[in-house]
Amino acid sequence: MRTLAARHVFVGTGWLSPGLLAWDEDGVLIGVARAPRGTRLTDVAVLPGLVNAHAHLQLKAVGDAPPNFVQWIGKVMAARGRTSLPELATTVRAHLAALLRGGCTAVGEIDNAGTSPRVLARANFAGRCYQEVTGFHLGRDDARSLLRTREQVGSDACPGGIAPHAPYSVSAPLFAACRSRRVPMAVHVAELPEEQQFLHTGKGSLRDLLAKLDRLPRDFTAPGLGAVRYLERLGCLLPRTLLVHCQELERGDAARISAAGAPIVVCPGTIRYFGRVPPPVEDWLRRGIPVALGTDSRASNRALSMQDELAEATRLWPTLDPMRLLAMATENGARALSHRSIGRIRRGARADFFAIPCTENPVAAVASFVHGALSPVAVWLAGGKHAGRLLAQQG
Ligand SMILES: [Zn+2]
Repeated sequence: MRTLAARHVFVGTGWLSPGLLAWDEDGVLIGVARAPRGTRLTDVAVLPGLVNAHAHLQLKAVGDAPPNFVQWIGKVMAARGRTSLPELATTVRAHLAALLRGGCTAVGEIDNAGTSPRVLARANFAGRCYQEVTGFHLGRDDARSLLRTREQVGSDACPGGIAPHAPYSVSAPLFAACRSRRVPMAVHVAELPEEQQFLHTGKGSLRDLLAKLDRLPRDFTAPGLGAVRYLERLGCLLPRTLLVHCQELERGDAARISAAGAPIVVCPGTIRYFGRVPPPVEDWLRRGIPVALGTDSRASNRALSMQDELAEATRLWPTLDPMRLLAMATENGARALSHRSIGRIRRGARADFFAIPCTENPVAAVASFVHGALSPVAVWLAGGKHAGRLLAQQG
């Protein structure tokens, strides 16, 4: 058994000041309590490990944003095509190390090559690893065969999921096949005006892209609905479906999402990269939608750091206070990934947490961390400590 006695420990509903944590050899918290009088304390505030609810760890930077999204997709696809499987694994490892430095211990990874589960397991990261599929041209049988090639068993800490990429890149039969797996899903939804245009009318730059890729079925007719209503019609608007981005919601969509109990993840770095208008996160939270934060990939973000995402979030949504943002990056992240043993410091959860310097006021320390003025001094991943030089050297 190992222990940590700290000035302050955040346990979701409040602070243990001072707090005493104990965890077992398997990296599971077995004691979360107020530290007895006379215990020698470390001058830190301990916070639950951050959950990065949306990432593509296999992707590398592709330079500045081109004038339109279809050009960006082209750049990403070309770069991805030039990368070997061993290179993908190396890239994922480096990105996990970067995340860890910023206090992140769990990730919602979108894996399009089948290589990430092993890297995540070796690194002892928690979260969920979604196998990504695309195929706007696929009928029922082809959709089922594609899914059979993407069977991936994750670890207990980082189980598998399925990621039908987006309504403009996945056919209705492929969505149906994904849903019938009955595992958590992640879908890019209502990310672009062009996506809504294509779903309503069947026209625009995404139609041209699909035609160029030879993925537009001859008998294609547009669903005539926006992305969220289309997902609802497909039976995919579910509590286990993580909706990624939601930049272009239509009237009534937020109420639909809230009624369905589906979580949303927003990626501040991507909003900045493409110069997008920040979506109404405060309104979504008021409606009870669990809104989480993600880094997305290096192809649309200057770094992979949940601390950077928090700092950017303070600029995009200035009315959200630091403790609320922390909850988005922890508890809501766990909810987004349909994962019960991360996101909060409590008995039975993984011993995933990090420490920031603090003596007196822990809420002020959280505010400094969220604004980027304080860095983690140590991070515990499944109870294993990464600190000082070790933390700096990761990656
Ligand atoms: Zn994404």
